[in-house]
Amino acid sequence: MIARRAILAAVGAVFLSGLVATQPARAGQDILIGGGSVTGVYYQVALHVCNLLNKYDGDNYNCVGRPALGSVFNIRAVERGLLDVGVAQSDRNYEAANGMGEFEGKPQGGLRSLFSMHPETVLLVTRKDAGISSVADLKGKVVNIGNPGSGQRGNAEDVLRLHGIDSETDIDAQGLQQQEASRALVDRKIDAFFYTVGNPAAAIEEPANSTDLAIVPINSAAIRDYVNERPYYVMTTIPAGTYTGVDQGVETYAVTATVVTSENTSDEMIYALVKGVFEHLDELRGAHKAFRVLSPESMLQGLSAPLHPGALKYYRERGWK
Ligand code: GLU
Repeated sequence: MIARRAILAAVGAVFLSGLVATQPARAGQDILIGGGSVTGVYYQVALHVCNLLNKYDGDNYNCVGRPALGSVFNIRAVERGLLDVGVAQSDRNYEAANGMGEFEGKPQGGLRSLFSMHPETVLLVTRKDAGISSVADLKGKVVNIGNPGSGQRGNAEDVLRLHGIDSETDIDAQGLQQQEASRALVDRKIDAFFYTVGNPAAAIEEPANSTDLAIVPINSAAIRDYVNERPYYVMTTIPAGTYTGVDQGVETYAVTATVVTSENTSDEMIYALVKGVFEHLDELRGAHKAFRVLSPESMLQGLSAPLHPGALKYYRERGWK
């Protein structure tokens, strides 16, 4: 709880200092939602879910969305009570619930799901002049595989392994956070980065406006087999024109962003949050291009950790469960 107070203090210092002077103090309960890099889409999830809660239930809740280190960090942080709610990839949600991957032998039994959000594509982004047109071309290159705690790090390691590339000896693997990785690609300090993210993401839009970027397909037979064997992966195509300079569709695979909490989070808080999201889903859909596809049907799919009782109560009231 000391750590939690420290985080809240830091969050307060960064995010609330400007608000204190202009907004009357409110007695509502604090909710902290953790996302990812400021240039990704998870942070937008955290911000906009909080906006809905503060706007429509502000007498009862003070919700703060903050950047965080990504899927694996968020799952661990909700389990430890450092965050009330976090965003995490559906593959990491599955692995955490079943004690696999980075959670090998340690199933996160207290992890609970709320709902799914937008699809996220496993992206391999490079500069057009870096000489990388397939995953195999990464050999000998400087490649950001994602910061520890991110969801993309596991995806990068899977893709490399499935192509016979050893991340320790065959490439110069970096572990930068995404906002630094995007800058490093433009500054020619790295040759490519892996990023698992909803589209369009500022992390790619911004460098695409100043540098000739390419997105490399991830669609080999080995990848297709891997995807086919796992319910939380699906092959997809990033449409031409999604990013400046990416003029043809690019095939890769995708996961879904999921919103998670701990079994210890109160039913009332989760009920209020879930209700805020679904009663104002049109507003959330309009908040970011990646959210346009959201529907109650899609948002109740792809959740491996059991539903939190507060969420289940709302879904039952709507007749969805
Ligand atoms: N999928 C990434 C992760 O799990 C985060 C993407 C984002 O921030 O939108 O770390």
